Parts: sequence; structure tokens; C-alpha cells
Amino acid sequence: MNSPGQAPPRVRRRGAFWAGMAALLAGLAAGWVLASPHSARRATPPQGSAPAPVAASPADTPRPEALSPGPRPSPSPLPSQTPLPTPLPSPTPSPSPAATLTPTPWPFGAPAVIGRTVEGRPIVVFRFGNGPDQRLIIGGIHGGYEWNTVALLDALMRRLRLNPAVIPPGVSLFILPVLNVDGYTDHRGETYGRANARGVDLNRNFPAFWQAEWEKTHCWHALPISAGARPFSEPETRAVRDFLQWPGIHIRALISYHSAAHTIFAGGQPPDPAAVALAERLARASGYTFPPKDIGCPYTGQLIDWAVAQGIPAVDVELTTHDDLDVEINWRLLQAFLQWRP
Ligand SMILES: [Zn+2]
Repeated sequence: MNSPGQAPPRVRRRGAFWAGMAALLAGLAAGWVLASPHSARRATPPQGSAPAPVAASPADTPRPEALSPGPRPSPSPLPSQTPLPTPLPSPTPSPSPAATLTPTPWPFGAPAVIGRTVEGRPIVVFRFGNGPDQRLIIGGIHGGYEWNTVALLDALMRRLRLNPAVIPPGVSLFILPVLNVDGYTDHRGETYGRANARGVDLNRNFPAFWQAEWEKTHCWHALPISAGARPFSEPETRAVRDFLQWPGIHIRALISYHSAAHTIFAGGQPPDPAAVALAERLARASGYTFPPKDIGCPYTGQLIDWAVAQGIPAVDVELTTHDDLDVEINWRLLQAFLQWRP
């Protein structure tokens, strides 16, 4: 959430997302993992162990090598109470940079690895539908602190697999259930899980009104948090940037999920008219309030402001609490999102 600090939420640990992903991926016959725009599709057997950390590069450029396994250090021990991350299929380096993405059609509900976190965990996008009108939903940008956004998207993906006709003809829906995978995995249900493994708030790291420091009196300030050394300093935010540049990717609307303000924020400062129209439509479908209360927090480096600057109507949707998934509410909201026309 973007509002002032609150007491840490009740700790409730859930392994449902990773367990679900592991089951899903096993069921996908391991043949449909798309590693990068420059990697050929290939069958890749799931690895049996937790993803190993990969040293993060400080480079601020598109880094296909981030997807390369390369030599890896041994996995560092995870906190004992933390469910092990999923044994995701490991992306495989492409023998030729000229190999194309274009896995046409991308099977319904199949995952693609679009990057890796500071600690080397895969960042995964799932695709539903193959239409040219593409929409993107991102959860867990605030990681373990807002773990219920990840659990919600996991639940919505299960429903989509049972109800594929919900995706209108001509539409593709991409769901990135957890962007801050390290914060989600290492600190689920904890305030500290908001930041990535370098203490950076990913929703302050995009190049839109970015500031190294900001006045926090009216903002979330439960813990010290960084905007990063510079915009796109973090591999997680770069993964989003790079995904939007994949061949064939033309996202036309975006939702970023947060908790827990029971409201919707429209991207842009001042708010972008198309983003406002989207927010109003989603507010009608969900009962989440719009416009949000102005709490006097300067919003810097936000995903939705950057998306609007890329010409993509974008909104933050804030769940009601830090514990509830609001599944029924967001099943309605999802259908409104899919049917909305920019
Ligand atoms: Zn948030």
C-alpha cells in the first residue's frame, strides 16, 4: 500500500502460490517455458532443488545474461519457516541470440520466465489467451508485506484455467503474480517483506517522478526503505521494462495489485484520463473506492506512473485488508478489466 505505516499484519504463511505453481509446472510437461525473447522454446525438466542465487549485475541495461544459468553458488539456507520456492524449470541459455520468441500460440495459462531477482529467483509471467489486445496484471510488487495480492492472483489463475471462456476473443491476459519474489519468499506476512533483497521498494524504483529520498511523513514509513541507487537499479523492475519490449508484446492496460486501502489509484500525475476511465470502471465492478483519498504522500518512482508514460492506462488496485484475498470482488473486477476498452 502507499499510505502511512500501520501495525504489521497478522502473520499468516501460505505456500499455496508456490505449491500451485509447482503443480502447474509439473503438469505442463515442462515443454512450454519461454525463457526470453532471445531463447528458443525447448523442453526443460524442472529442477528438484530451490533456485540458486545468481549474483546480480549492477548493469542497468537489458541483460539477457540474467536468464543464463551460468556457474552458480550454492543455495543459501532459507529461513526454516519459509516454504521452499517452487522448483521452476530453469531457463536455458540460447545458443543463438537470433533465436526468436514467437511461441505461437503460447498455450493457455503457460508460464514464461522474464527475469531473475536479486537472489536469483525466477520472475514468471503467465499468459491466458492469444489475442492482440493485451492486458497485464502484476501482483506482489510489495512482496511478503502484501502477500495476499499474490495469493489472490494464484486463485484467479486457477479460476481462469477452469473458465477459459472468460477471456474475450481477441484478448490476451498476462499475469505476473509476484514481482518482489525475494521479499515474498523470505519475509511472507512481515512488514520487512515489502522491500526486495537490497532493501529497495520496487514501486519507488521506476523512472517516473523518481527521487532518491522523499518526504515520508504522510507516506508508508513503518521501516526505512530505499528508492534504489537510480531508476531501474533493481533486476525486478528491469524485468518488467524488458518484458514490455519483448517482440509481440503490446500491453494496452495494466493493473498493479496492493493491499490494503480498499481503493483504486489511477496512474499519472496528474491522473491520466484513460487510467481514470479504467479506475472508474473497476471501481463500479468491485466496490473499491475511487477516487482515492489524498493523504499527502508524494508518489515517486511508481510502476503505474511509468506505465502511463509508456502510453499504457494503469491503475493500482488496493485489496481491503492485509489478510483477505477478496476473490469474488476481484473475479468481477477481472472480467470488467478484460472487457474494458481503452
Ligand atoms: Zn503496496
